[in-house]
Amino acid sequence: MAEEYDLVVLGGGTGGYVAAIRASKLGLKVAVVEKGKMGGTCLHRGCIPSKALLRSAEVFRQTQLAEEFGVETNSPVLNFVKVQERKQAIVDTLHKGVQGLMKKGEIDIYEGFGRILGPSIFSPSAGTISVELNNGEENEMLIPKNVLIATGSSPRTLPGLEVDGSYVMTSDEALNMQDLPDSIIIVGGGIIGIEWASMLADFGVEVTVLEYLPTILPTEDEDISKEIMKHMKQKGITVITDIRVLSESLKIDGNVVIQGESNGETYTFEADRMLVSVGRSANVTNIGLENTDIELDNGVIQTNKYYQTKESHIYAIGDVIGGMQLAHVASHEGITAVQHMADKNPHVINYDQVPSCIYSNPEAASVGLTEKQAEDQGYEVKVGRFPFKANGKALVFGESEGFVKIIADKHSDDLLGVHMVGPHVTDMITEAGLAKVLDATPWEIAETIHPHPTLSEAIGESAMAVDGNQIHG
Ligand code: NAD
Repeated sequence: MAEEYDLVVLGGGTGGYVAAIRASKLGLKVAVVEKGKMGGTCLHRGCIPSKALLRSAEVFRQTQLAEEFGVETNSPVLNFVKVQERKQAIVDTLHKGVQGLMKKGEIDIYEGFGRILGPSIFSPSAGTISVELNNGEENEMLIPKNVLIATGSSPRTLPGLEVDGSYVMTSDEALNMQDLPDSIIIVGGGIIGIEWASMLADFGVEVTVLEYLPTILPTEDEDISKEIMKHMKQKGITVITDIRVLSESLKIDGNVVIQGESNGETYTFEADRMLVSVGRSANVTNIGLENTDIELDNGVIQTNKYYQTKESHIYAIGDVIGGMQLAHVASHEGITAVQHMADKNPHVINYDQVPSCIYSNPEAASVGLTEKQAEDQGYEVKVGRFPFKANGKALVFGESEGFVKIIADKHSDDLLGVHMVGPHVTDMITEAGLAKVLDATPWEIAETIHPHPTLSEAIGESAMAVDGNQIHG
């Protein structure tokens, strides 16, 4: 007997499970279909485990610097097995938390692979969902009034390059390495590549980053990419830009040898392992899109601003629709979609107000337009900058690298973008996000009293600097 639901969510990642909770709070009868573990990529193969490893790398790095703080230690020794155990314990705790939330919300979980079968007499609007259960039992049929596709994305690789999981890895396999290599080649200097480069260098691994474009972190403000590049080099990382990796040249023989081509010259690189971090592709295969009128463009599902696909009762959110592939974006899109299906008049997401964060050392964070984007859009800009080396708390922390950069419209004073590199900026960017939501001007940010001594004073000073009024610089 098929079970009926107001909403069936395909995918229990951050986008899917948050949407399911909101739907349940709105009184909908909800089911989630998840082929792996509730929590999805962010919890099991992304944000959380990678940040746990980055934190161990940070502690290891800081312990080596302990003498600077007047704390004498013997030479610290890294126990990578314990590093991995700690990471797993954090993931397991959060996994239990998500499972508990599902129970509390009386949300049914189907462990298996869900496929849309297309409109039927039972479910003329949204289409019946068939679930191929992980336990091998006969497929379960679900009849939803609405469907939310939140199937996420998977790591891309290069054409012809086989990921064997031990010598050639994506972030999925790298997160479960049981030991550290002496050396690694990282193909792709985007967010994943740079977070891993920073982490592995802090663990003492010899790292080479090969980036196709002329700059690492190509979507960031130019000053941010340059600053991070400088710090990656200071860590001893070799960063080579403008290079095309020749995947067909890959040789694995106890280590990895691969060639790259730059300006007509061919270069050879050799390391113990290789990490491929060249972007992620939407998970759209086998989920039954061919049984619907749903449209794809460039491999991602097309939706309107309420995340409705061409089939008005089938919504899609998160990495599977492209755009900013971030967990907090997926969850907010999920909330908007659910509010729309429940006729709750949702707020439309303004992507200019969404912060994005890079958890390298030093960290980077930003919201809004880069300086170049602002200029390309015809704004005449004024820019305020403030370096952390002039901030007391940063000096106390012993982490005074980086700066805050604020970009505003010269004529209207509108805040266009905020970009930061430095200590704890991934936590501090929320102030800039709030300023964007409230349409605050740099003057209003500067009028906000930032407590002393805090790192956040750098935001206040940078806002003052937009009009040349900074105090400490
Ligand atoms: P990305 O798009 O951020 O970066 C990929 C990089 O690889 C780009 O710089 C690109 O120019 C380069 N590249 C592409 N083809 C190449 C080639 N053949 N040779 C060399 N370089 C090549 O992708 P990613 O780093 O894999 O991350 C995937 C997604 O996951 C991103 O959208 C990112 O936002 C998200 N993510 C976010 C966080 C975070 O918020 N902290 C962390 C990890 C991942």
